Amino acid sequence: MASILTHPVIPLTCGLILGTRIVSWRLILLGMACAILPDLDVITFKLGIDYQSALGHRGVSHSLLFAILAASCASFFYRSLQTTRVKAWWFIALATASHGMLDALTTGGLGVEFFWPLSEERFFFPWQFIKVSPIGVNRFLTARGLQVLQSELLTVWLPCGLLLLGVKSALYFTSSKPSS
Ligand SMILES: [Zn+2]
Repeated sequence: MASILTHPVIPLTCGLILGTRIVSWRLILLGMACAILPDLDVITFKLGIDYQSALGHRGVSHSLLFAILAASCASFFYRSLQTTRVKAWWFIALATASHGMLDALTTGGLGVEFFWPLSEERFFFPWQFIKVSPIGVNRFLTARGLQVLQSELLTVWLPCGLLLLGVKSALYFTSSKPSS
């Protein structure tokens, strides 16, 4: 997995790019939580479930179906999320699905079961450049954890920050152009 510090960066960046007039803060915060949600499956290690099993880590909870179900649940609460049903559905679906996408870019572990239950095949993207994060807080607070954080800062946080800066600057300069 990428670390739980990094998964929420994707919906946060998307939300800030779209702007809080389009995506409310409540929806952004729920999206950030949903981007971490799939990794609750690490509990299956404690339950003795095989990593390779569909119920194991990077299995069911990392599938696109899980993202669809999370989005469908969230869309019931669209009023509390201060948005429309459609926006709530799409934002939460993409935020949750982004988790598996980041995991599929990591350098270790098993692949992601994107297409469960249609297929239990596990996938990685052809490019794997995010150092895989150790599982568990104790293992994260080590030299290896620091290397993972450096890798994530460079490969996720920095590009997201630059993208946000680029889009916001472009919008600023376009909107502040003097009219002729
Ligand atoms: Zn994961």
